[in-house]
Amino acid sequence: MKIFNELESAVQSYARSFPVVFNKAKGSYLYDEQGNAWLDFLAGAGSLNYGHNNPVLKQALLDYIEQDGITHGLDMHTDAKAEFLHTFRDHILQPRDMNYRLQFTGPTGTNAVEAALKIARKVTGRSTIISFTNAFHGVSLGAVAATGNQHHRGGAGVELNGVVRMPFCGYHGKDADTLRMMEKLIVDPSSGIDLPAAVIVEAVQGEGGLNVAEKQWLQGLEKLCKQHEILLIVDDIQAGCGRTGTFFSFEHAGIKPDIITLSKSLSGYGLPMALVLLKPELDQWLPGEHNGTFRGNNHAFVTASAAIKEYWSDETFTKEIAEKSAMVTAHFKKISDRYGVTHLRTKGRGLMQGLECRNGDIAEKISRQAFERGLIIETAGNRGQVVKCFCPLTITKEELSKGLKILEDSIVEVFAELSLGKTG
Ligand SMILES: *Cc1c(COP(=O)(O)O)cnc(C)c1O
Repeated sequence: MKIFNELESAVQSYARSFPVVFNKAKGSYLYDEQGNAWLDFLAGAGSLNYGHNNPVLKQALLDYIEQDGITHGLDMHTDAKAEFLHTFRDHILQPRDMNYRLQFTGPTGTNAVEAALKIARKVTGRSTIISFTNAFHGVSLGAVAATGNQHHRGGAGVELNGVVRMPFCGYHGKDADTLRMMEKLIVDPSSGIDLPAAVIVEAVQGEGGLNVAEKQWLQGLEKLCKQHEILLIVDDIQAGCGRTGTFFSFEHAGIKPDIITLSKSLSGYGLPMALVLLKPELDQWLPGEHNGTFRGNNHAFVTASAAIKEYWSDETFTKEIAEKSAMVTAHFKKISDRYGVTHLRTKGRGLMQGLECRNGDIAEKISRQAFERGLIIETAGNRGQVVKCFCPLTITKEELSKGLKILEDSIVEVFAELSLGKTG
C-alpha cells in the first residue's frame, strides 16, 4: 500500500474508497492479495458489463494474440477491424434500422465526446452546444465544458466556453416542462442564447445521479432539435451497451440521434475503445482532422466483436437484463418503503438503478459499510448522495441477491447508527 501513497498522484479517487490491493478478478468478483473477495457493483464504472475476464471474450483475445494478430494499427485497415465493422453492422445497426458511419477516436469516452462536439460545430458552422444540468461527458476541455459538476469543471483552470446549460428532464420537479422552457429560449431572438450546433444528452445520467430522461421527453427533444435544425447527440458511453436493458439506452423512445458516442463497455473486456456514430451526411471530416494514436486498438476490436456476437445476436440477454432489473427495482422499493422516500428514494432504470440518500455523507457511509461486508459499490449524484448499483449485466441471480442483501444490511446498519428513518 505504501508505494501508492508515496508515488501516485493525489488525483486517485476510487482507490480511496476501496483501499486494498486487488490482484484478481473473475465474473462479478474482485479479489485482493489476501484472497478476500468482493462482489463488484461498480464494474469499472460501467466498463465491465460482461463481467471481469469474461471467458468467451478472453478466449477470442488469447486466440488472436497467439496468432500474432495486429495489436496497434493506428487507423489502418486490419482484419480485426473489418470483423468488428461487419459484426456491428449486422448485429447492432441493421436490426435496428440504423444507418450510421463509424468513427474510431482515441480510446477514451471523453475523446469520442470531443469528436462529436467538433463535428457538430464544423457541420453546422455554429459554436454553441446545449448540455444539461448534472450531465457528465468527460474531463478533457471540450467535454468538461459540457459537464455540469463543479468539482470537475474547477479542475480545468481556464474558462469553459461554448456550452449553454439547460434543465434536464425532471430538474424542476415532475410538473415543470423543461423542454418548453428550452424551446422558448431557443426561439426568442432576445433570449441571449445563440442557435446551438447541437444538444448533447444522456438518456440516463450516470455520474449525475441516475436521473432518467422520460421517453416522451427524449421524443420531444428529438422533435425540437429537428424543428430548429440542431443536431442531437446522445452520449451513450455509460448508459449504452445494454446497461438499461437494450443495446442503446434510447431504443425504447424510438429516436434516431444524429450522433451517438459509445465507449466504456464497448470492448466488453475493459480494454480502451471509443466510437462515434454519425449519420452519413454528417461525416464531413477531412482525413486525420480528428485523430488519436490509439484509435486502432485491435485487441478491443476482437473482444468487442466477440461480445456483440455472444450477447446481442438474439433477445436472450435483453430478457435476462430485464429480469435482473426487476429484482433490483423490487428490492430497492422494499428498502425505500421501509425507511420512507424522504430518506431513500429509488432512482434509475434497467441495471443502472440506485438509492438516493438525504446527503452524500450517508451514501458514503453505506458504501463504506458495504465494502466491509464484501461489496464494492460507489456513489453518484450532484452531492454524491446516490448509492449506485452497477453490477455486471452477466451477474447470476444468486450473486445479485447476495449483493442486494449486503447492501440492505449495510443500509440497516448505517441508518441504525444515525438513528434515521422508521425503525422496524
Ligand atoms: C465515463 C463517461 C464519459 C467519459 O469517458 P472517459 O473514458 O472517462 O473519458 C463520458 N460520458 C459519459 C456519459 C460517461 O459516463
